[in-house]
Amino acid sequence: MTQNVLVTGGAGYIGSHACKKLRAAGYVPVTFDNLSTGWEDAVKFGPFERGDLLDRARLDEVFSKYQPITVMHFAAFSQVGESMKDPGKYWRNNVIGSLQLIEAAADAGCLNFVFSSTCATYGDQDNIVLNEDSVQLPINSYGASKRTIEDILANFEQSHSLKSVIFRYFNVAGCDPEGEVGEFHQPETHLIPLMLDAITEKRDALTIFGTDYDTPDGTCIRDYVHVCDLVDAHVLGLKWLENDKGSRVFNLGTGKGFSVREVLEQSRVVTNKQVPHVEGPRRAGDCTKLVSGSERAVTELGWLPERSNMKTMIEDAWNWHQTGHYEK
Ligand code: UDP
Repeated sequence: MTQNVLVTGGAGYIGSHACKKLRAAGYVPVTFDNLSTGWEDAVKFGPFERGDLLDRARLDEVFSKYQPITVMHFAAFSQVGESMKDPGKYWRNNVIGSLQLIEAAADAGCLNFVFSSTCATYGDQDNIVLNEDSVQLPINSYGASKRTIEDILANFEQSHSLKSVIFRYFNVAGCDPEGEVGEFHQPETHLIPLMLDAITEKRDALTIFGTDYDTPDGTCIRDYVHVCDLVDAHVLGLKWLENDKGSRVFNLGTGKGFSVREVLEQSRVVTNKQVPHVEGPRRAGDCTKLVSGSERAVTELGWLPERSNMKTMIEDAWNWHQTGHYEK
């Protein structure tokens, strides 16, 4: 029997990599995406259903057509800076959209749900290495919106026996080493693609957002995970639910943090070119340090991150940057 997985946001950066991995694992990824930030060119591994999470009738139609065994929910707005300027956009799309999806899934009897949450739900916590039991005190609207969806999932477990695997991502980077899919945001706001753009003069110098943080070199520290490792964890999460292991939260980090300046330096090493940059003020909503171990994912899911070292992530991103693109 065909095993359909409904992948919201399957036309986006992480969702498209997940579709490739699902296909390789023998599932049929059905992409549900409104193309607000995704690319139809990135939907290569299964059917495409264009639709918006806020359109309940469209969701019902797609659930009825494909009868998915699991939902993987990637579709969301995810820019910290923007979420501070336009919180309504984040609460409407991320929270109300997710609620519509969760209700549609529950009503369709699709009770396995894999959810993309974020380290931004933890907030700023005195330079500690986080784990899944760390208190969640988000300091930006993006993190708050994701935290709320986690709560909704817990409520639907009580009411409808909906089981969820929640992944709290740290900073996702790199691309498919085979170059079939990659990272392409319009506008781009993420550090590594912006650096590569600055190196190739596709845009002006990179601005370092804040040099007065309480870190060794004054710039923010983040824990970077390769997108291929991240989506591997999602397939393990799906199998976890298939095996009736119950709802669980997993952090996906490496336990090692890199400051903005350290990422810049690694980019210089990989590309053999200086990253043009200037120093600027802090960006609203940024935490000083977000780093997590992945002990739980490793021991319980059997997750084996293989490409999550900074050199490989930048090499893969650089490769895609020079060869890959999508067209609207
Ligand atoms: N950053 C920066 N300049 C930029 C973009 C990002 O200094 O033009 C910093 C940002 O402040 C953060 C880190 O790079 O400390 C990673 O930011 P990104 O937006 O890639 O991911 P986020 O941590 O917001 O999810």
